[in-house]
Amino acid sequence: MYQVNIKGTDTSYNVGKIVCLGRNYLDHIRELGNKVPDRAVVFCKPASSVIPDGGTIHIPPYSDNCHHELELALLIGKSGKNISEENALSHVAGYGVALDLTLRDLQDELKGKGLPWELAKGFDTSCPLSDFVPAAAVENPNAIRIVLKVNGEVRQDGTTAQMMRSVEEIIAEISTYYQLEEGDIILTGTPAGVSRIVSGDLLEGEIEQVGTLKATVA
Ligand code: MG
Repeated sequence: MYQVNIKGTDTSYNVGKIVCLGRNYLDHIRELGNKVPDRAVVFCKPASSVIPDGGTIHIPPYSDNCHHELELALLIGKSGKNISEENALSHVAGYGVALDLTLRDLQDELKGKGLPWELAKGFDTSCPLSDFVPAAAVENPNAIRIVLKVNGEVRQDGTTAQMMRSVEEIIAEISTYYQLEEGDIILTGTPAGVSRIVSGDLLEGEIEQVGTLKATVA
């Protein structure tokens, strides 16, 4: 069982389900040639896909095109179902930095066959995750800069202000599909700039007011 900690406190949570939002930044939808969805695109990664800050990514042998997606992570601290947008932020215990690593070749193949693309998203080590800052440390989660460098070169540089659904809307919508429980994590989607990572790459993510995350590709 994987645990995440709230920085500067003794509080930790066992990671539950990891619910991820796809297609939440318009420029990223455009770069992949996808359609703007009416309903949120939602998928889950298993808790076993998490690796800590400084961890090593293992790209499975059945993929030759693993992409980085840097995302703001929400840690749920209070369970709820059908949560209103007004109450949504009271369910967030903290904010963290996450990578939603994606086997783009496998995803495209499965999408093309009309099959679920879970295998492209949930593989072991597919979710590098930082520790969390307390929710109160972030003034407005819908207006913070999000930057990913690979080997020192900026690949993704956006702001959560570009999200099509706000943090409050995401929590409200996801909680209509899934009961949210303490320790669940929500990944809120990625801005444009996704690209392939290869053996030896060093990934460094940074989200304003939230923190940093590093990972190396084996
Ligand atoms: Mg993603």
